[in-house]
Amino acid sequence: MSTDPAGPARSGAPATATSPDTSPDADRPAGTRVLVINSGSSSVKYQLLDMAGRDGAGAARLASGLVERIGEGPVADHAAALRQVAAELDERGLGLGSPDLAAIGHRVVHGGTRFTEPTLITDEVVAEIEELIPLAPLHNPANTEGIRVARELRPDLPQVAVFDTAFHSTMPEHVARYAIDTATADAHGVRRYGFHGTSHAHVSRAAAALLGKDPAEVNVIVLHLGNGASASAVAGGVCVETSMGLTPLEGLVMGTRSGDLDPAVIFHLSRVAGMSTDELDTLLNKRSGLLGLCGDNDMREIGRRMAEGDPAARLAFEIYIHRLRKYVGAYTAVLGRVDVIAFTAGVGENSAAVREAAMRGLEALGIALDPVRNALRSSSARLISAGGSRTAVAVIPTDEELEIATQAYALVRAVHD
Ligand code: AMP
Repeated sequence: MSTDPAGPARSGAPATATSPDTSPDADRPAGTRVLVINSGSSSVKYQLLDMAGRDGAGAARLASGLVERIGEGPVADHAAALRQVAAELDERGLGLGSPDLAAIGHRVVHGGTRFTEPTLITDEVVAEIEELIPLAPLHNPANTEGIRVARELRPDLPQVAVFDTAFHSTMPEHVARYAIDTATADAHGVRRYGFHGTSHAHVSRAAAALLGKDPAEVNVIVLHLGNGASASAVAGGVCVETSMGLTPLEGLVMGTRSGDLDPAVIFHLSRVAGMSTDELDTLLNKRSGLLGLCGDNDMREIGRRMAEGDPAARLAFEIYIHRLRKYVGAYTAVLGRVDVIAFTAGVGENSAAVREAAMRGLEALGIALDPVRNALRSSSARLISAGGSRTAVAVIPTDEELEIATQAYALVRAVHD
């Protein structure tokens, strides 16, 4: 904790550093490591990866950690949290001052229509991310705070923003627009942006790789089922639909979010229950979904309760599965041909019961699970469909940090090449 990460070690700045695996080009970043920072409202997660392997395929995770409860105790603010991250890395000899560091990659939740690619951070970029705060009032302020502090700690180092919305920016206009008054929508940025984009990008590519195919040849439905949950339809490597919209509230039933509902529910509760905008926001984002339905948002607990015959847990599970199946059907129609359905994130990777219930009885759509493969526990990407299934079904562990590091590293390499 006592180490100053911006101190003497900073003399090894990339422009002047040498390292055995550096190209002769003096401008090229010397390092092969990327620090990924995910700065949330009350926590900062980090991972340090070495990208020396080809295209990130051989990336090695050197360190990872989490600083929690920012603002509640000894960690007063994001600056203190980032200093703690720097100190933890220093203690392991992997300090922020290291010449091996090529870039810092920051997760940024909302890129609006402005940011559709990983972006090298400048003062102007920070100001533009701040302009998007009305679209992501909880996330973008924490994200920009993490960027601001990291830039203070290493002002000489390239820092890259990777946006959760970016992968979905290829959605056609007829998918991205809501059917509301165009002038009102355009005046206030009301359209569908989608989230979890780094996960959908990573998993859709990994699903193609699992089939031994180029992403350009493959149509994928990705089901990212974590505490937050979203589906996407990816045609030939390009996202054409996703279930989250203006905010992460739209779409699937989630741990604490309602997902889709008739928007008139909001007017109704406002009129008959006198609920304020903030109360409705909290109800639908924090007290709904599985938690609102049965009092638990952890699928493991819901599974235990169902095994004991708990009717509320059973109903919550059925509502969750019903919504998921509607999206699988809808995205099958959107894509026309589905080569692979990929389950990912905490629930998707771990719950054989959710996967089984979601895929049950879909033989007419060319989907059949292999029950033995589905039940196997593993942390590797794997097929769980039956041999004769026209559409493959896969479990693909997501890795948002690797995806952010890969994109950030590719950008700094491209800038220097
Ligand atoms: P994520 O947001 O991707 O970290 O996912 C978190 C969620 O994954 C938790 O809320 C749990 O409901 C779920 N989860 C984690 N492990 C399991 C498991 N073994 N079985 C069912 N659900 C799980």
